[in-house]
Amino acid sequence: MPGMPYRVTLIPGDGIGPELAEATRRVLDASGVAFEWEVQDAGEGVMAKYGTPLPEHVLESIRRNKLAIKGPITTPVGSGFRSVNVTLRQTLGLYANLRPARSIKGLQTRYEDVDLVIVRENTEDLYAGIEHMVGRDAAESIKIITREASERIARFAFDYALNNGRHKVTAVHKANIMKLSDGLFLESCAHVAKDYEGKIEFEDRIVDNMCMQLVQKPELYDVMVLPNLYGDIISDLCAGLVGGLGVAPGANIGTEASVFEAVHGSAPKYAGMNKANPTALILSGVLMLRHLGEQDAAVRVEKALREVIAEGKATTYDLGGPAGTSQFADAIIARLG
Ligand code: NAD
Repeated sequence: MPGMPYRVTLIPGDGIGPELAEATRRVLDASGVAFEWEVQDAGEGVMAKYGTPLPEHVLESIRRNKLAIKGPITTPVGSGFRSVNVTLRQTLGLYANLRPARSIKGLQTRYEDVDLVIVRENTEDLYAGIEHMVGRDAAESIKIITREASERIARFAFDYALNNGRHKVTAVHKANIMKLSDGLFLESCAHVAKDYEGKIEFEDRIVDNMCMQLVQKPELYDVMVLPNLYGDIISDLCAGLVGGLGVAPGANIGTEASVFEAVHGSAPKYAGMNKANPTALILSGVLMLRHLGEQDAAVRVEKALREVIAEGKATTYDLGGPAGTSQFADAIIARLG
C-alpha cells in the first residue's frame, strides 16, 4: 500500500518538455509510490505574463516541497534572459549535479558495459556568470573556484561512491595550466580523499587526457568529480557513450531542495509531436526515487524501462522504434503491472 504521498513540484518546461513530463508523471504514478504533483510553469511561455522565466512562486513551490522534476527550458543564445537552469541551481544552492551514464541493452552504441557517474560542481567556475566587456572588442569571464565548494562537491562524490558500492573517484581538472583555480579544486579533492583512504580509491586526470581516455577505455573509470564547465562537457561525452542525450538523466542536489532533470534541452523542432524520447526524464525520476529511499520502486521502473528498450517494439524514433512518447510510457506502465 502506498504511504503518505510525496509532494513534488512538476515543471513541464518548454518545447518537448510538457510531453516528457506527462510521460514521466504517469510512469512514476504507476510505480506504487504515491505522489502529489504541484504543476508549475516556468520558461519561455511565462515570460509575457510574469516578466521572468522563473517566477518567484515557482521557486517557493520547490523550496516548500524540496523536490522538483523539471522538463527542459529554452535559453536564448547570446542575449535575453539568463538560463533558468543556472539561476535555479544558484538560487536554491543545488551544488551537486549527478549524471550517471550506464549502457542500456538494445541500444546501438560503441560500448556495451559503460557504467560511469559524473559528479559536477554546479554553482561556480565560469558559470558564476561574472562577465563583462573590456572596451568594445574584448570580453572577460571570471572563473571562480573556492575551497568550500570544491571540498563540498568532493565529499558528495566520495559519499556517493561509498553509499553506492563504487570503488574509485577521479578528480578531473586542468591544474597544469590554471594552477591557482584548478589547482585549488584538485588540492581540495585530494584533501577530502584522505578521509576515505582504504575505502575509496582516489586519482586525478587532466581534462583533455580524460576525454581521450573515456572514448578509448571507459571501463577504467567509475565516479568522476569535476568543476562546473568540464563537468558539463564530460557529461555530454559520457551520454554519447551510452546512447546519446535522449537517455541521459540528471539530478541537481542541494541542501534546501533537489531538482531532477534530463541532460538534453527542449528540442523545439519536435515540440508537440509526441515524438521525443522520455527515457532521460523517466531515469531522472528513478534518481528521485532513489533519493527518497524508494529503492524497490526505483529498481522496478528502471527494469521495466530497460526491458521495453531491449525489446525495441515500443521505443521512440531515436532508438529506432515506431512509438510516440506516450506509447513508450504506456509500454513501461504495462510492464509495471
Ligand atoms: P537539445 O538537447 O534540445 O536538442 C538537440 C537534438 O538532440 C535535438 O534536435 C534532437 O535531435 C535530440 N534530442 C534531444 N532530446 C531528445 C529527446 N528527448 N528525444 C529525442 N531526441 C532528442 O539541444 P539544443 O538544440 O542545443 O537546445 C535547445 C534548447 O534547449 C536551447 O534553448 C537550450 O538552451 C535548451 N537547453 C535546456 C536544457 C535544460 O533545460 N536543462 C539543457 C540543454 C539545453
